[in-house]
Formats: sequence, C-alpha cells, structure tokens
Amino acid sequence: MIRPIVKYPDPILERPTERVTEFNDELRQLVNDMFESMYDAKGIGLAAPQIGVSKRITVIDLSFKEDPEDKIVLINPEIIHREGKQHEEEGCLSLPDIREKVTRAAKVTVKAQDVNGEWFEIDGEELLARAFQHEIDHLDGVLFFRRVSALKRDLMLRRIRKLQRAGDW
Ligand code: ZN
Repeated sequence: MIRPIVKYPDPILERPTERVTEFNDELRQLVNDMFESMYDAKGIGLAAPQIGVSKRITVIDLSFKEDPEDKIVLINPEIIHREGKQHEEEGCLSLPDIREKVTRAAKVTVKAQDVNGEWFEIDGEELLARAFQHEIDHLDGVLFFRRVSALKRDLMLRRIRKLQRAGDW
C-alpha cells in the first residue's frame, strides 16, 4: 500500500523513533509499504517517520528497482564505523525541491537487523554512505538542514516558508 509522504514541519520528523522489537508479518507489510511509497515518490531512500510511523526502520534502493540486490532494509541500524569526508548535494522527500550540500563521512559501516531480526553489517561508500547517514539521521529525528551551517539553514527555511505560502509545499 502506498502511504503519503509526511513533509516538514510535521513534528514526527524531528522526534527520535522507537526500536523495533517484534519481527512479524506486520513488520514485513510495513517494509513493503515503505518500498512502494518510496518508489511512488521517486525516492532512493525512505525512513519510517516519513510515512508517519515512528519506528527505527529505513529502506534504500540506489538502483531504483533495477537491481533487486540493491534493495536494502535496515532495522534498528547504528553506524559503527565512519571514515573520510564527502561534501555532496542532498535532497529529501520530506523537504521537496530543497537541495543543499552536506558534509558526511565518505565510508561507513552500519550494523542492523533484517526483517527476521538477524543482525548483519553492511559497508557503504560515496552515495550509499550518504544514504545510510541521511536515513539513519531521520531515525534520530534529524533532518538534513540540521547538518548545514546556520546561514544556509536560514536560507533553506526561508525558501520552505515561501513555498508554503505559495501553496507549493
Ligand atoms: Zn530524507
């Protein structure tokens, strides 16, 4: 089921999520809904709060349906290793049309559970590392405008208010 994407300033986006403790059919359904909603919104990453569910779950597919091997589900993820730096443009389905360069680690290792509750580790670099950091930030209630300078953040927030006033948000 496709669920609507929650946009800023909905407070659910800035609240830390709850850990997943039950690995059942309901969770599998939610993960399926997250992929469907993400593809429908033309995204390559989605965190559960973005469809209104305050749980520690994110899905990523950098190939956008091209390669089933690229479908990643992270439940209760934590970044356990960071290395290097990258400074690239990011966007977010919850902040439509807003893009800004964000400094992130160039390489990360994430520890997470799969839909069956099994723990695994996954490495990512470049775009994948950025997706891991952006999505895991969502699970901590951190939107990407918190990762830019105060000056840039003010400009972004001003732009958002303008879009909201114009009814384009
Ligand atoms: Zn986002």
